[in-house]
Amino acid sequence: MDIIAVLRADLGAGVVHGPDEADFPRHSRDFLNAAPDGVALIGVAYPRTTEQVSHILRACNAAGVAVQPQGGLTGLAGGGVPQAPCLVLSLERMRAILEIDADAGTMTVEAGVVLETVQKAADAAGLFFPLDLGGRGSAQIGGNAATNAGGNRVLRYGMMRDLVLGVEAVLADGTVLTSLNKMIKNNAGYDLKQLFIGSEGTLGIITRLVLRLFPKPQSVSTALLALDDYPAVLDLLRRARAGFGGTLSAFEVMWPDFYTLGTSALGRQPPVAEGHGIYVLIETMGTDPAADQVRFEEVLGAALEDGVAQDAVIAQSDAQTQALWAIRDCPGEFPKVFWPQISFDVSLPTGEIGLRVPELRARLERAFPGVRTVFFGHVADSNLHLSVHPVEDPMPVHAIDEVVYSAIGEWRGSISAEHGIGTIKRAFLHHSRTAQEIALMRLLKAALDPNGILNPGKVI
Ligand code: FAD
Ligand code: ZN
Repeated sequence: MDIIAVLRADLGAGVVHGPDEADFPRHSRDFLNAAPDGVALIGVAYPRTTEQVSHILRACNAAGVAVQPQGGLTGLAGGGVPQAPCLVLSLERMRAILEIDADAGTMTVEAGVVLETVQKAADAAGLFFPLDLGGRGSAQIGGNAATNAGGNRVLRYGMMRDLVLGVEAVLADGTVLTSLNKMIKNNAGYDLKQLFIGSEGTLGIITRLVLRLFPKPQSVSTALLALDDYPAVLDLLRRARAGFGGTLSAFEVMWPDFYTLGTSALGRQPPVAEGHGIYVLIETMGTDPAADQVRFEEVLGAALEDGVAQDAVIAQSDAQTQALWAIRDCPGEFPKVFWPQISFDVSLPTGEIGLRVPELRARLERAFPGVRTVFFGHVADSNLHLSVHPVEDPMPVHAIDEVVYSAIGEWRGSISAEHGIGTIKRAFLHHSRTAQEIALMRLLKAALDPNGILNPGKVI
């Protein structure tokens, strides 16, 4: 009997949509990547409970039907995009906030809650959930965990892995693994939740999570600085770490081509003049508004006096703060000024990034004359972003990927800092992982999903 008919009989027609009613176009792409032409989806399931997720997986595992987990589909690596006939399992109806425990500093949620909803619920309770990224209005907290999302505040609060205390996940055979731990210290055996965080839906489906909450910051200070070169950036980072201690919450670096795109190319007045060697956006979050701003101005003032920074603008209002962040967030506007493009998300040791940027640019220009590149990144987290705008049409995507990823491999960096492997980096995983590491990943996959039904064709 066909799986859709079985599941509809068991769970109801509202939970499982067959080909006639399912919105396949919406479930066939993420933010950047589309399913290959002609991929026939079997249906879309919208479970409301962990038991329903378990039921669906048990039935699909028995029938050998592939299952495609999907969150908010803001992913950038194709992890949520079907590659072959499959049943899509969307978490979007599992969106309850179950509990906020102020003493433990935790929030327990279902996986389909949207990131921004989590942020607002924490705020309403007088607390703070620090994960933040451009896709906040659609990305789901389960998707954030499945991709081990990063974003702008990793420097201070860590990646999603550091913000999750407990997970409930359903294995490929329908087994429910409930590990909704609320304690910061818990060394009772293997930390099983980590199997599901960052494994992009290939080892289990996350259904509930216990998140860590933090005290709400009372002050935010933001500045944009212009410097001569990358050694000055490293000097400024040392000063910021020493001067701001744990309050330093963002340190974003922009190379000149990127700064020009984010300002004059998009019709914005540059807050500090173009023509400098490199730009840094600094943010601190503290608990004492008056003292924090004074300290902020002292540390940055000393950097200017000592010649480490050449120019600086310190935001004096929320509007100015947003205007400075709009420059850093300009990749969302690239379709207007830098399109088509191929975007990269790699890591290298922070101290080496300054040397590698011109080297990578030169390699790309040698291989693809006329190519344009822009570099930016969360460099205090060792995370470099690069966007490449080739002259050829169609874009030689694979050849450009190969130039970038083989260089990153040669320099012992990571081909994915925060967006994951999905489908688009799968062929390049060997640049960042040894054969032994990949073999162990395959062993884990085979142990947890012996029939290979969970998100096939992704990661490994
Ligand atoms: P989806 O795209 O739906 O899925 C992503 C992967 O997770 C897929 O492999 C899917 O199968 C799996 N998955 C989803 N939900 C579950 C679940 N419950 N259980 C098991 N597997 C699941 N990312 C960053 O890290 N840092 C950034 O700064 C950042 N900025 C972004 C800015 C913009 C404008 C956009 C559009 C995206 C950005 N991203 C960033 C990428 C994206 O937002 C994250 O990868 C996000 O965590 C994905 O969540 P999602 O719910 O949309 O997942
Ligand atoms: Zn990023």
